[in-house]
Amino acid sequence: MNRIAEIRKKIDAYWDTLLSSGRDDVRIMEICGTHTVSISRSGLRATFPKGLKLISGPGCPVCVTGQSYVDKAVYLARQPDVIIATYGDMVRVPGATGSLEAVRGEGGKVEVVYSAHQAVDLARRCEDKQVVFLAIGFETTAPATALAIQKADREGVENFSALLSHKLVIPAMRALLNDKDIRIDGFLCPGHVSVITGWRVYEPIVNEFARPCVVAGFDDEQILKGICEILRQLAEQSPAACCVYPAVSETGNLHAQEVIHETFDVIDTYWRGIGIIPASGLGLKERFSRFDADKRFNLPVFEEHDPPGCRCGEVISGKCIPPECPLFGTICTPREPIGPCMVSSEGSCAAYYKYDRH
Ligand code: SF4
Repeated sequence: MNRIAEIRKKIDAYWDTLLSSGRDDVRIMEICGTHTVSISRSGLRATFPKGLKLISGPGCPVCVTGQSYVDKAVYLARQPDVIIATYGDMVRVPGATGSLEAVRGEGGKVEVVYSAHQAVDLARRCEDKQVVFLAIGFETTAPATALAIQKADREGVENFSALLSHKLVIPAMRALLNDKDIRIDGFLCPGHVSVITGWRVYEPIVNEFARPCVVAGFDDEQILKGICEILRQLAEQSPAACCVYPAVSETGNLHAQEVIHETFDVIDTYWRGIGIIPASGLGLKERFSRFDADKRFNLPVFEEHDPPGCRCGEVISGKCIPPECPLFGTICTPREPIGPCMVSSEGSCAAYYKYDRH
């Protein structure tokens, strides 16, 4: 029997145990966009027992970023002396007055970069412009932003700044578990984030809410192993934080954590679909505050809003699945997306559209 067949056999056995204990459904949330895509691409959902539900959580960085952030980025892109440097997924997210892609069509300067350092290099090459890096993402991308800001500080690249919306995963998990409208029985925890944080950071969640928190990698075997471990813990009523992904250690990347702490303060921040979560974001420490684009450009306040009819907020908080949005696959498609979950390569709606539609 191959390894995957062995894991499946264990999954079936734990499922039978759960059924015989009177439980007929289990809801496991993945909080990583890469997991969301892998699960859809592999077709795993359809192979599980009917009551075993995998639901997507707030794991796609573009999707959890509030609409006001998109509107600020679009506003900045329309300023004549500004170049926006961004990861590619942000370019097509529709804002209230258009997307960055639309502004580029109007002659605005929007450059796709693959790292925060590239944005600093761009600023150095374009001294007569202000380069604003769209700094989004979780613990995974925050160290690179921090290092880029430290580099700009050290080397005096004063025409560089960052529009910040970095977020921390654990406070979002806690917020979801405190939401009475969502039931989550266990978390498939994010592999990339956990490389930075380590897997022990999930222990407080287990202690407080008694839910399994299992870190897994991204191929079928890893995802199945993670789900199998969650089911084992549920069947044996022994929730724990643990890891089946060899790339993740107990304590994570200490250097990356130090760089984050040197550069950022923990702040309250807004998450699409959830609202403001205390201590869930990263803002620049005072000594780096001149690199904060919000302050440098004295940006106006933009209201949070969702595109009319779009249920992205509910999708990323596990309250509905993409096909339950009436716009899914009709007027909202990857070619003409209405919300960020259909734009981003890690978005749940895009993943369902591509792999799970039929
Ligand atoms: S299908 Fe489109 S409109 Fe509906 S939730 Fe997803 S992104 Fe939003």
